[in-house]
Amino acid sequence: APAETDCDVLVLGAGPGGYSAAFRAADLGLKVILVERYAELGGVCLNVGCIPSKALLHVAAVMDEVRHFDALGVSYGAPQLDLDKLRAHKNAVTGKLTGGLNGMAKARKVQVLRGYGTFIDAHHLQLEGTTGTGQDKNGETRTVSFKRCVIAAGSQAVHLPFLPEDPRIVDSTGALALPQVPKRMLVIGGGIIGLEMGSVYGALGTSIDVVEMSDGLMPGADRDLVQVWQKFNAKRFGRVLLGTKTVAAQATAEGIRVSFESAKAGEAAPEAGVYDLVLQAVGRTPNGRKIGADKVGLTVNERGFIPVDEQMRTNVPSLFAIGDIVGQPMLAHKATHEGHVAAEVIAGELLGDEALARSAFDARVIPSVAYTDPEIAWAGLTEEQAKAQGRAIKKGLFPWAASGRALANGRSEGFTKLLFDAETHRIVGGGIVGTHAGDLIGEVALAIEMGADEIDIGKTIHPHPTLTESVGLAAEAAHGTCTDLM
Ligand code: FAD
Repeated sequence: APAETDCDVLVLGAGPGGYSAAFRAADLGLKVILVERYAELGGVCLNVGCIPSKALLHVAAVMDEVRHFDALGVSYGAPQLDLDKLRAHKNAVTGKLTGGLNGMAKARKVQVLRGYGTFIDAHHLQLEGTTGTGQDKNGETRTVSFKRCVIAAGSQAVHLPFLPEDPRIVDSTGALALPQVPKRMLVIGGGIIGLEMGSVYGALGTSIDVVEMSDGLMPGADRDLVQVWQKFNAKRFGRVLLGTKTVAAQATAEGIRVSFESAKAGEAAPEAGVYDLVLQAVGRTPNGRKIGADKVGLTVNERGFIPVDEQMRTNVPSLFAIGDIVGQPMLAHKATHEGHVAAEVIAGELLGDEALARSAFDARVIPSVAYTDPEIAWAGLTEEQAKAQGRAIKKGLFPWAASGRALANGRSEGFTKLLFDAETHRIVGGGIVGTHAGDLIGEVALAIEMGADEIDIGKTIHPHPTLTESVGLAAEAAHGTCTDLM
């Protein structure tokens, strides 16, 4: 590194990975500069991802719940939508969080620089000023020098090349802007993001079709969890086209006309559809190729990811990378955890602290959650993965039809499933489908990290009547001691 640098650590990108790395590095006593092209801190997650989608999903869930009340003897009239207010609510939530980040940066003396960063060499970043949208450069440039850099430049939505430019064709960012409540909507991609946004628009009254190329919705989740979701949502969604490719789209006056093909050779193509809004949710691609990696000899793989080791080191000694840009799963909590590791390793090196220098990413599991209705959450091995690995497992299942709390809530369609190693009896995975599954999976993740076995979990006294009891009871079921209905 040059003798004099502008900072110890430069963090490129202010998403959950970047701000976590910057704040941890500052807390450890390093001089930190955080670079972000957009006016707001918080990255995809806070501005156009996790948080705004959950603000809308909460409203959707309450609307659905209220509809069920009819059967419980309480009726409300048809919902009156004020889209401006709903949008304002979502924006207020994200604004509070992103504003809070500015305060947290200030309190830690983290210097925030706005602009688009590309590497000049292994210790210098060129920063081009950006206008409000973050996409357009405004011509001002400056160079910032650093001892170490944490690359946290994230990812962006994949766009299907054959879809025409049309305001009625959007990605998740466009869908979250809530431009209108369309009559007919097509969601291309049956993964978490597509189904979450489909749930929001469905609750607002839109008729939703979903098209997914693989044979099942929510790839990655256990099939029996997804089945419960599908059964519960059978009437809520229109056509769910599995094993189907979207092959063409035309913008017409009456809507976007989309045609499909079966992914299996020889099978008839499903009928084309006409939609007022088309959401493409076919995955996200890392921003690895957009930061001048070639100028520093930084390895970026063919998919745009930056390979790192368990200390988040790239192949260039002064550069670390974290979050969506280093690989799957592209989740905020993974990015945050990796951000902390990178900051600690760097602090260890620069301050000569051996304990910090040993910090590494060694989490056993990274939980995943689909915040749909019902929610689906899982951590560790799925049953399919355990089978594919030929691993002998013992399964404990607790159906929520036997849970007093789930019945009282009028939502007993879920279940909790835990998987244990047949020899060691330690928990290796778990999945939950049902309301609040995302909140419940934290206990499963903790149990896996702590190496808990069936008895540890089954003998832990869970409060009654709660949905968390289902975790204890699933463990008891695996142990063969579950006799009670709750
Ligand atoms: P990002 O959040 O992508 O942040 C990268 C930042 O770097 C951005 O602010 C970008 O502007 C900036 N940047 C990029 N290049 C440059 C450059 N050259 N110069 C300056 N700045 C640059 N995850 C969950 O865990 N839970 C959820 O519920 C969830 N819901 C989601 C819903 C949606 C609709 C979407 C799209 C994503 C969701 N995710 C969710 C995923 C989550 O948002 C990402 O995993 C997370 O934001 C990744 O964090 P990151 O720090 O790696 O990158």
